[in-house]
Amino acid sequence: MSYERVGERLAEVRERVAEAARRAGRAPGAVTVVAVTKRLGLEAVLAAAACGQRDFGENYVQEALGKMQQWPERGAGSELRWHLLGRLQSNKASVAARSFAVLHAIDSLSAVRAISRAAREYGVAPEMFLEIKLGESDQRGGVAAAAAEGFLREAALAGALQFHGLMAVADPALAARPQFAALRELRDRLARLEIPGAPLAQLSMGMSGDFEDAIAEGATVVRLGTVIFGARPGA
Ligand SMILES: *Cc1c(COP(=O)(O)O)cnc(C)c1O
Repeated sequence: MSYERVGERLAEVRERVAEAARRAGRAPGAVTVVAVTKRLGLEAVLAAAACGQRDFGENYVQEALGKMQQWPERGAGSELRWHLLGRLQSNKASVAARSFAVLHAIDSLSAVRAISRAAREYGVAPEMFLEIKLGESDQRGGVAAAAAEGFLREAALAGALQFHGLMAVADPALAARPQFAALRELRDRLARLEIPGAPLAQLSMGMSGDFEDAIAEGATVVRLGTVIFGARPGA
């Protein structure tokens, strides 16, 4: 695949993000774009990084480590911020805690405990997001909205790391915007409880097909693959 048009597409995406933020009365800089490079080669990362993109998202730890190891050092200011978007298994928690700046899809207490142990042992502090299950399908990851408070209270006992926000993938069988509104309302309610380790200032929601609705409902992080890089192989 050729990534010649990535710069153009990124510029268009940033304009759409800024416009959606303005329409919602929010600052254009209030939304971080994570460029999702799962199943794409290092060339995709290089093409986007050459256009100033710094935040990259991956779903699989092993695949991401391969790209991180190939990323050429370009001196100060060239560091990338890697986001793990896929579900984290406890046995990968230690390496993930050391390799990613942000872990978006936390939905098990055993993963939280493993991340906290690794954070203490290696002196790292990845940002965590609690994944919430939206909609009705059973096969997807995430904690049920009704269980989120209990989860955060348990997680607070596990260590010093912080949940910076909630994350979700909208159920494609349902309208996106009401799901994003529900996630924001859940976040607002949980944030008011002031649970230790759960400031929840952020909302990671919105993908290529629905990011403008997500921004309208308060997304601070949108995760965009197809709209930047085109269709993924095998998709
Ligand atoms: C693949 C993926 C994305 C990006 O999806 P696009 O529709 O290509 O923008 C975002 N978030 C998660 C969790 C994903 O798995």
